[in-house]
Amino acid sequence: MRIDLHTHSSASDGTDTPGDLVREAAAAGLDVVALTDHDAMSGWAEAQRAADEAGITLVPGLEISTTFRHRGVHLLGYLPDPAYPPLVAVLDRILAGRTARTPAMVAALQARGIAITEDDVRREAGGSVAAGRPHVADALVRMGIVADRTEAFHVLLNPGRPGYVDRYAVPLEEMIPILTAAGGVAVIAHPWGRSGGSVLDEPALASLKELGLAGIEVDHQDHSPAFRARLRSIAADLDLVVTGSSDHHGLGKVDHDLGVNTTDPEQYERLLSLAGRPLGG
Ligand SMILES: [Zn+2]
Ligand SMILES: [Zn+2]
Repeated sequence: MRIDLHTHSSASDGTDTPGDLVREAAAAGLDVVALTDHDAMSGWAEAQRAADEAGITLVPGLEISTTFRHRGVHLLGYLPDPAYPPLVAVLDRILAGRTARTPAMVAALQARGIAITEDDVRREAGGSVAAGRPHVADALVRMGIVADRTEAFHVLLNPGRPGYVDRYAVPLEEMIPILTAAGGVAVIAHPWGRSGGSVLDEPALASLKELGLAGIEVDHQDHSPAFRARLRSIAADLDLVVTGSSDHHGLGKVDHDLGVNTTDPEQYERLLSLAGRPLGG
């Protein structure tokens, strides 16, 4: 059984529609794929229809933008009740913050003499519920200002760069209990990747487990073999679920092909049982 528990569609910053993403997952030989768009659950219905047709299992999820000790941390949530009011309220607030951020980023870039407009960004966002930094990056690429998204972030859009604008993110210590109360399973995405970094050490993860944290994403392209080994041993110490995923973004991110990392079936079963949905149940 091949299981990939972290992918993005055009409901956030991926380039495939939710349906296409699931069909590609089936074609790539995956049996289980999770759709985890940033702060959005709007792709679930279309993805579920495609999964039913393709005969593979969809795990509905999302990746929430949180903060922990002044750092950005991405939190994966699997199988929450999408109508749970506190979850809906947090996502609305994140979405509002992100929507207000685009005009501010555009203004900051214009002040640097870059002739970008909000319309340019909206066009790149297409069907996404929220235009965000990746879409600003795509607009800059299309304008020929930078070669690709990576350069756009590096030169203009990362913290400390001229086009960066801060925005609301929910504290991680608040989000884990909300997700759990929504019947979901909380797993920290790429804990030692580009975001998060060293603040998520073993004592921090132990304290987050007390709040309901269920697992950590260990096998991710941002993690070196040494990081993976260390994180695996921390997960064993703390009895956390270990996941592995592609963090696929379609054409939006290179070296993140579907199934490039996968989750062990035993770990997947643990995750399902934590959500109260044992395999086949
Ligand atoms: Zn992430
Ligand atoms: Zn992601």
